[in-house]
Amino acid sequence: MLIERIAVVGAGTMGNGIAHVCALADLPVTLFDTDSAALDRGMRTIARNMDRQVARGRLNAADRDDAVGRIQPAGSLARAAEADLIVEAVPEIAELKGSIFADLDDIAPPDVILASNTSSISITEIAARTERPQQVIGMHFMNPVPVMRLVEVIRGLRTDDATTAAVMELARKLGKTPVEVRDFPGFVSNRVLMPMINEAVFALMEGVAEAHAIDTVMTLGMNHPMGPLALADLIGLDTCLNILEVLHRELGDDRYRPCPLLRQYVAAGWLGRKTGHGFYPYDESP
Ligand code: NAD
Repeated sequence: MLIERIAVVGAGTMGNGIAHVCALADLPVTLFDTDSAALDRGMRTIARNMDRQVARGRLNAADRDDAVGRIQPAGSLARAAEADLIVEAVPEIAELKGSIFADLDDIAPPDVILASNTSSISITEIAARTERPQQVIGMHFMNPVPVMRLVEVIRGLRTDDATTAAVMELARKLGKTPVEVRDFPGFVSNRVLMPMINEAVFALMEGVAEAHAIDTVMTLGMNHPMGPLALADLIGLDTCLNILEVLHRELGDDRYRPCPLLRQYVAAGWLGRKTGHGFYPYDESP
């Protein structure tokens, strides 16, 4: 299975990053979002992030122009289906992902691989919404996609070897290191990360320390490159809450219960960097 054309569904934080790295690896990319403003924003973000790479001497201007030219914004899901691999990166809501996979299964030719960038939702369940569960897989990129080297590759119960091998090979072609994991809630990354972020929010809510102090303990004390609250702002507080809900529901253990302060921030629309306000204020609004 050779993957030569990619489509990305959802042009938000992760979708535009996935399109970015695929285009830089010489792959033509179709980028689709139901919200045309989000699609425009995603295209602008890619151009801005590539400009930054040029300014830092990590990319030359001609390669940037070629890469930007390889990304086609699409106005319909049908256009997105014209690819060898479709990566879905819409919000972390099981029903939304399930219905998109059912639609993609109807539209895309039978040999197309369908991948989800889900952080926590069962690949086996998403795959069951299609007639091709053997070609459905998790391709969990990390944020920011152009910078982070890991891709967690999640095999659903019925994912076949050829699909897994093709996706592992693609991840390497993108300059990433793929790690194969089994399909359990939150996989490895978020099963370990989210309880730490949640605990940091509890510490903030209970007044143990201010946000900056909590993050400093973890950066200077534990040698983490970023504190958990700053990381939550980068990930998106809505995404963190959605992942914790999945862990709590699917694993049935109260240690994953989302902190009420996290719920409150999400209810207030303070979603982190993408809205200009989370545990910290940000200059760059969307
Ligand atoms: P986001 O909110 O930044 O972007 C989601 C995009 O999907 C939005 O632009 C929205 O308009 C679009 N969308 C909504 N419904 C759609 C539909 N039916 N068809 C097409 N587009 C649609 O979210 P994100 O942070 O990019 O997260 C996307 C996925 O990636 C989630 O599953 C999340 O859990 C996962 N993820 C996020 C991170 C992170 O750090 N943010 C890291 C790894 C994985």
